[in-house]
Amino acid sequence: MFQAEIAKNTSTIERLQGLMKVLVIDNVPVEERSLKEDLSKLGLKVDWAQNLDEGSQKIKNGNIDVILLNTTLADINGLATIRSVRAFSRSLPLVVYTDENNKSIALDALRIGAQDYLIKSQDTPSSIARCLRYAIERQRIRYEQILDGERCTRLILENSLQAFLAMDQNGIIVDWNLRAEGVFGWSRHEAIGKPIKDLVRATPTRDAYIKNLDKILSDSPEGILNKRMEVYAIHKDGHQFPVEFGIFRIKDKSDYLYCTFVNDISDRKEMERKTKLLNEQLEQRVQERTSELMRSNEELQQFAKIASHDLQEPLRAVQGFAQLLSRRYRENLDADGNQFIDFILDGTERMQKLIQSVLEHSNIRTNDQELESVEISSIIKEVMKNLNQAISDSKATIIFGELPAIAIERSQLLQLFQNLISNAIKYAGNKAPYIVISAEKNIDEWLFSVCDNGIGIDSKYASRIFDMFARLHGRVKYSGTGMGLAICKKIVTGHGGRIWMESEPGEGSIFYFTLPAKK
Ligand code: ADP
Repeated sequence: MFQAEIAKNTSTIERLQGLMKVLVIDNVPVEERSLKEDLSKLGLKVDWAQNLDEGSQKIKNGNIDVILLNTTLADINGLATIRSVRAFSRSLPLVVYTDENNKSIALDALRIGAQDYLIKSQDTPSSIARCLRYAIERQRIRYEQILDGERCTRLILENSLQAFLAMDQNGIIVDWNLRAEGVFGWSRHEAIGKPIKDLVRATPTRDAYIKNLDKILSDSPEGILNKRMEVYAIHKDGHQFPVEFGIFRIKDKSDYLYCTFVNDISDRKEMERKTKLLNEQLEQRVQERTSELMRSNEELQQFAKIASHDLQEPLRAVQGFAQLLSRRYRENLDADGNQFIDFILDGTERMQKLIQSVLEHSNIRTNDQELESVEISSIIKEVMKNLNQAISDSKATIIFGELPAIAIERSQLLQLFQNLISNAIKYAGNKAPYIVISAEKNIDEWLFSVCDNGIGIDSKYASRIFDMFARLHGRVKYSGTGMGLAICKKIVTGHGGRIWMESEPGEGSIFYFTLPAKK
């Protein structure tokens, strides 16, 4: 564009130090050209053209630094004269030199590119010479600024990590940066001047769109401007790859330039593809594992049901006959015989309790349906009623402050609190149990605690006691199945909560558990 003229002008700048050459375009007869002599005396080299044709020829021949133009020529006059000169010389500084003393024409002249507007009757040769020198200097500064700006823009474009390309409204490529060479495989030299559709081809599915791009640009480009688009492009070597881009337009003189930054998104797409694949595989595995788990859960439940039924039958028979034996033959047996029968009865009773609690454990299911909220304080009151005997026997004190309402099946909440409170009473040792129940809200869950002043346990067993059948204390002193806390754990974790305990032997225990605040 400007480059060639700028280059020509740069050499002009160098010549500025020496003799400056003025081209006067004025139809003054040769014998009346005193201005030529006057300017020569003032250090300017003057060439003269009688009309625009002659002027354009002399400008083309080069070596002109500034034009002094009379806007009233024989063949043309007024602002049209300036426009005509500008058409064949865009970079040379131009000063108007006229008889017409008209301020508004002078302003219009400056607006369309004249550097100055001199009136023949008012300006002296020395003021004309000064004005010409200033015009050259101003033009030089302007072009330096343009050059700096262009250099800067070029540097930005060439250092961009995105491919940049610009095309005119016929889809002809007019700019192509270094990254575009890398992305599409065509060199800048190969790309510039070629139709975009020849170089940046898309996949057959988008072919229609690319084929018509030049038509879209010349007819109604508004629809595709400033939109993020993704297509598959084809590299010079024929391989296909995904790109994203958006077209924006800028006005260059009277024409539009359509520019776009293009990103090769192959890596991103590959990553997306892999992530999608991994997700699908993961989902499939989760589904497989879930159905496996559900199957084995069902099997376990089935097993627990059958086992408890089948075990209960012979157990009842053993229990029944042992009781019969005890009732009918107690008199005939000695002390040992009677004690053995008591052992059998005790054993069958314990086995019955074990079977019951295994059944209870396997029957715990998390209900997915929306449930009504249950006031925890009402649950505690019910537990206290159920444990009435144990509470009064042990002289237990149970304290609770404000407790929330939770949307979990009432029977499960009851079982949870009852197991913990009954343990706090059972494992109280010699002291009267003192039990405090409280709750505090964390972001989306409630943290409950059941604190007692009982015998406590060594903290290294703190997690083991939640396993099925885990018992730390002897059967003789403390009856139980070792299933109570396992049932608590199943209820809590089934609702997405956690359960744990903190304790020290002789210092009491605190059982903590969390439950979701909203369901
Ligand atoms: P069980 O009480 O029937 O033995 P649990 O599952 O309820 O079964 O408890 C497991 C074990 O945890 C108990 O045997 C006992 O050793 C210990 N434990 C439970 N609660 C307490 C408590 N409040 N204080 C001290 N130890 C406890």
